[in-house]
Amino acid sequence: MIDDKLQIAIETLKKSGVRITPQRHAVLEYLLTSMSHPTADEIYKALEGKFPNMSVATVYNNLRILREIGLVRELTYGDDSSRFDSNMNDHYHIICEDCGKIVDFHYPTLDEIESLAEKVSGFEISHHRMELYGKCHECSKVKVQ
Ligand SMILES: [Zn+2]
Ligand SMILES: [Zn+2]
Repeated sequence: MIDDKLQIAIETLKKSGVRITPQRHAVLEYLLTSMSHPTADEIYKALEGKFPNMSVATVYNNLRILREIGLVRELTYGDDSSRFDSNMNDHYHIICEDCGKIVDFHYPTLDEIESLAEKVSGFEISHHRMELYGKCHECSKVKVQ
């Protein structure tokens, strides 16, 4: 499953004429296997053992390229710790208010909101974003004493 996804992603890279460096391959593979929506820093830390000469800037650069090709989505939260998601299907996110964990939430896309918003505002709506907040399973188990 992961191998299939990786294979397809690599084909997409090749078709876009992007050179597949070992680091780029590793960043992509990490994103496809990790469902945790990591930050660039987390990706860097996870891969620095394998690539001691790689810098955070290299990770950012690779993420930017992957985003431009449409293999990765960047989730911004108004600070500088963007998170990266390799799940390009439409989905929503549930975010833990305590530990910041983000999990995918599959729910039919709320298209009717977009058409209603277009009607009432005259905007041409391009997309929408919805996040649900709460406490994850691990965090709600921790009892405050
Ligand atoms: Zn949590
Ligand atoms: Zn996601």
